[in-house]
Amino acid sequence: MNQIPNQEQQEDAGIVIIGGGQAGGWAAKTLRESGYTGKLSVIGDEPHDFYERPPLSKAVLLDSEGQLGLTRLFSEEAVAALNIDWHRPLRADGILRDKQQVIMSNGEKLPYRQLLIATGGRPRRPEGLWQSHKKVLTLRSWNDALQLRTQLAQSKTLAVVGGGWIGLEIAASARKMGIAVTVFERQSALCLRSIGSEVSQALLELHQNQGVEVICGCGDITLTDNNGQPELKSELTESQTFDLVVVGIGVILNLELAQQAGLEVRGGGIVVDDQGRTSDPAIFAAGDVALHSSLGICLQSWAYAQNQAITTARSMLDIGQQGYEEQAWLWSDQYAENIQILGIPANDSHCVIRQDGSSKVYFYLNANNQLVQMVAFNDARTIKLGKRWLLAKRELDPAQLSDPSFSLMALK
Ligand code: NAP
Repeated sequence: MNQIPNQEQQEDAGIVIIGGGQAGGWAAKTLRESGYTGKLSVIGDEPHDFYERPPLSKAVLLDSEGQLGLTRLFSEEAVAALNIDWHRPLRADGILRDKQQVIMSNGEKLPYRQLLIATGGRPRRPEGLWQSHKKVLTLRSWNDALQLRTQLAQSKTLAVVGGGWIGLEIAASARKMGIAVTVFERQSALCLRSIGSEVSQALLELHQNQGVEVICGCGDITLTDNNGQPELKSELTESQTFDLVVVGIGVILNLELAQQAGLEVRGGGIVVDDQGRTSDPAIFAAGDVALHSSLGICLQSWAYAQNQAITTARSMLDIGQQGYEEQAWLWSDQYAENIQILGIPANDSHCVIRQDGSSKVYFYLNANNQLVQMVAFNDARTIKLGKRWLLAKRELDPAQLSDPSFSLMALK
């Protein structure tokens, strides 16, 4: 077992974290809480301390007076106590694995004994005018959110390109601000890659009931400029001018560093074991860029970024622990609905629906009636049960699941 490196051993080459987001933040905190006292450097391309992203598409946009400060992950005092050697706003431009150094965008080289790659992703945008039009925005960072909030306050009409999670959360916030919203989704249904068609339909109805125009299967969209305003034409709709366009068509993961350094990258992410170790024993990866070790996909969720980073930080110190084995879990707040998604969709599953007052749960079961995914509207308690069922591969009775008079707690 490795010793936790102490201050003297780490005079120059301590632990370097590339990425100042959710995963980088939790890794830094965990390293310190686990007893690491050596040099801890964080390279971040934003000027801010670690912050939470979930409020960016919701509370921050609705905070018209700008009263919310940075949605901090940890208090200012707590961050100061981490004693981080910050390198920000700077980018890591390369990793010299033979010398154990990171090349930063200011030309400096930072030595590392161990390196954590937590570089996250950047919003995808179509080529051409989409990249430069002043009224076409994306949302990923704190600064993006402030810019979007300012622009929304001046807008009466909004087009959201991409009916995924970010697009729908922004659409809900914009409707709360009284803005007319049109959502363009290329797929035949909303959020189709992460949920079943029954839940897509529920989301469609939710947004339509709030007055959102949703155009699924829109095909390619052409953007032109009309006197400074963006104009969109899709394969299903005529040209229409909007005050503002937000693009939420997924992210490009920042894998370039890992690829250039020759680390194993597969299936769209950095290959790691259940302790976050990459193919180089001195380099670890956490968060969006780290392929889930058993699911084989990049989860890109708040819970994964936090908990997989915590596991990885502990394994960097080799302090002995269980590997990361949590199921996929994410949530989204839209209008008055809290939507939680547990597990990933499977083609051969069938759906059982349970409606109980304001809560509605969609259970997706395999041929043996074992849970593969569930989506709960306003029912966090059943999600907790579902986590146990998933783990235990418990066989469930569809009749019990769909019967609101049957207490699911009996299946605890
Ligand atoms: P997303 O969930 O992948 O959704 C993007 C949607 O846009 C997809 O359905 C995609 O269809 C569609 N699309 C792609 N190109 C298009 C085009 N040219 N025109 C119209 N539609 C197009 O990605 P996102 O909403 O941008 O979110 C980014 C990431 O942040 C995701 O990983 C998401 O899970 C995460 N996020 C999570 C939360 C949460 O947990 N609450 C909230 C916000 C964001 P195709 O599948 O065909 O590409």
